[in-house]
Amino acid sequence: MKQIPMLDLHAEYKHMQSDIDQAIRTCLEHQKWVLGPEVKELEDSIARYLNVKHCVGVSSGTEALVLSLRALAIKTKGQEYFARQDEIITTPFTFTATGDAILRAGATPVFVDIDPATYNIDPQRISEYLASTAGHRVVGVIPVHLYGQSCEMDKISDIATERNLFIVEDVAQAFGGTWKHEKLGAIGTAGCFSFFPSKNLGGFGDGGMVSTSDDKIAELVRMLLKHGGKDKYNVDHIGYNARLDTLQAAILLAKFKYIDEFNANRAAIAARYTQTLSNVKSIRLPQQLQEAYHVSHQYTINVMDGKRDALQAFLKEKGISSMVYYPLPLHKMTVFLNGRSIASRDLVNAEQAALNVLSLPVEPLQSVNDTLLVTEYIKEFFRKQL
Ligand SMILES: *Cc1c(COP(=O)(O)O)cnc(C)c1O
Repeated sequence: MKQIPMLDLHAEYKHMQSDIDQAIRTCLEHQKWVLGPEVKELEDSIARYLNVKHCVGVSSGTEALVLSLRALAIKTKGQEYFARQDEIITTPFTFTATGDAILRAGATPVFVDIDPATYNIDPQRISEYLASTAGHRVVGVIPVHLYGQSCEMDKISDIATERNLFIVEDVAQAFGGTWKHEKLGAIGTAGCFSFFPSKNLGGFGDGGMVSTSDDKIAELVRMLLKHGGKDKYNVDHIGYNARLDTLQAAILLAKFKYIDEFNANRAAIAARYTQTLSNVKSIRLPQQLQEAYHVSHQYTINVMDGKRDALQAFLKEKGISSMVYYPLPLHKMTVFLNGRSIASRDLVNAEQAALNVLSLPVEPLQSVNDTLLVTEYIKEFFRKQL
């Protein structure tokens, strides 16, 4: 039986094998494994691509978030960490790392609900929390561009400017995405990228990047990623060993050449899903904002009437992979309980999404026939339900 995976990293490697093999061979020749020339080359290439002043390679998307927040604490408060009463607003409907980074930087995450149409943080709910009595404790916002689509950045930027809040964009799922004509990661105070293998630009292991046009933030992140100082034998801050590997940078440089083409392929697959599934009544399709270039990291449908798990099981029987991102909103996770986080009002939209979402295969090299086959099985499932 034909199997359709969420992603086919073997096929992608074959597609770019000569570029990648050459990049790895170059590293084997020069043997500069730690902060070798490829790291700077990747940083400079991505800074140009995003149109920001600085990019700093780090060891993962999670560390990109932690180091950005730590740099902001040092810059804005003159302290190594935020205090527990410092609050940072984010979405409960994201990967664990977004909220975890806030805890690791010493602050308290405040979860506000999402817009059910886009699954992204609802700017209205940010404003509501800021207007509440606790609102004055908020120091910043982390919008997460979930599934590859930008949050409503005009509204979020206006709110942040008015209240003098920082914005750290979580761009882990949206490399190459835009809001109007700006690249994501170039809008906030800092942008945090992940090169985890399954991301739109993925390495052969862990990796990440911080983008910023703030000289001080860039300088602090650069210090924090290598033990906290400019001189590693006389350090200034409580640092980490969180460097991006030379080898990952070399592989990412080779893959970076393909990112626009691959993102366009993803968008075309998403468009075909939307076109083919638009008359299936029991599912709600992802809504695309006019102002955003959605790079379709995931194509996520909302399965109504409690049929999500049955549909997933049916597709599995037919050889079609699908995934639930995410089955549990952050405010329900053990690590965020017991006063470690604040849930603002109700988070009903996030809770509903966790029950109903299902992400379908979006492999940039997947054929039109494979995309259509997925949609055929989805239609067959709902015909059988009648
Ligand atoms: C993947 C991801 C991260 C973490 O990136 P890692 O490189 O795995 O540490 C953070 N936020 C979101 C939204 C992600 O999808």
